[in-house]
Parts: sequence; C-alpha cells; structure tokens
Amino acid sequence: MRKRRKKIKRKPDGFRDVFIERRSFRSLITSAIEVYNRETNGALLGRNAVREINGRKMKVVSVKEAYPFQTEKRTPSEVIHGNISAFKRVLRAFESLKTEIIGGYHSHPYPYGGFVALSEGDVTSIKEDIEAMVKIGQERVRRGWIELLLSIKRKDYKRPGKKEWYICDYVKKLRVRLRTKEKTGYDVLVSAYWVYPKEKFGEKPIKEMKFGVKEVAVYVPWIIE
Ligand SMILES: [Zn+2]
Repeated sequence: MRKRRKKIKRKPDGFRDVFIERRSFRSLITSAIEVYNRETNGALLGRNAVREINGRKMKVVSVKEAYPFQTEKRTPSEVIHGNISAFKRVLRAFESLKTEIIGGYHSHPYPYGGFVALSEGDVTSIKEDIEAMVKIGQERVRRGWIELLLSIKRKDYKRPGKKEWYICDYVKKLRVRLRTKEKTGYDVLVSAYWVYPKEKFGEKPIKEMKFGVKEVAVYVPWIIE
C-alpha cells in the first residue's frame, strides 16, 4: 500500500541569506582560532527573521548562537563526531530547551584543499547529522541545513602592529582580518551554504538521498552600521 507523503514545498524565499548576530559571530571566529590549525565545528541555533540590510528589509535566517562541540576528533583536514552519544546528547538537550538547530559550522584551516567550498565528505556528514536530528524530532532541517564554512589562515606580519580587526564585505562572502599579537593574525573567510534535499523524504535512507548545495550571502551587524 502506498502511503501519502507530504510534499516538500520550497517557497521562493527558501534559500534565505544568513545574518550572523554579533555574539555568535564572535564565538564562530574565536572557536576557529582556538583549534587552529585543526578544524573546529559546532551547531548553529537560530530562526527566520527580518533584518534591514543596505536600507532594504530582508528575510534572512538569523544565527543567534554558535555552539562548538567539545568532544570531536580534529585534524587539519577533518573533524568528525568523536563521541556519537555526546553528539546526540547535545541534540536532545537543545530539543528539550525548545531551541531550533538550523545547521552547523566548521572550519577549513589553510590551505583548505586549494579552494573555498564544502567537500563531498562535508555533505555526507551533514546528511548524517540531519538523519540524527530527524530521529529525535527536529523537523526544520528536513527543508535544508545551513552550513557556515570558515576558511582560516594564519598570517605573519613583518612589521609589528596593534591588535585590531576589520571586515571586508564581498558579494556573498565575508573576510575577517584579525591581529591577535603584534606580528600574528588570522584571515577568516566566511561563506554560507544551504545543503538541501533534492528528493522526497521517506523513500530511501537519508544517506542515499541526493542533496544540493547552494551558496547564499552572509551578513554581520557591523556591515550595516
Ligand atoms: Zn569541510
């Protein structure tokens, strides 16, 4: 017997741009610097919101909080859940706290495989995370997952300078330059992607489903001040 399944509806504004709130932006950047040159990763908490960007009211996904996982296995080219039960405890805790996980983030330390993009392995682990979340009842990620990628490179300066930071705003990505010591700093390129199902849920295991990746623009409050 064929069961009736709900169709996945993708509204025109389905691929919303991402707005990273001040506090979560600081946590994201710092967590990538903390474990350099290994990869950081974590969960993103947030919700749909409207923000005024460049004088226009825009429907965005607002990243309210970034939660860095503490129990991961980190190398310069990979980060995986080091402890699956710990990962599931995080998911269940957020579920009980009535907090919506909207996706995740991780870093690619230089030379980031030569280019700035999600790898095939990234998409595979995102699918596994979606599967784990759907199992405990987090429904939102069925429509798509937001992954923030922090491509990070350490910079050594010839001339000493004072501690400072600034942001460059590109068409979609953001670049953060941050000097942490007189002659040392970090260059972090932030990009945002929707990882979304191209097939209906329920017909096959999530890991066998086709997913697409779409890059969207990323904003932070400092750009619009
Ligand atoms: Zn990756």
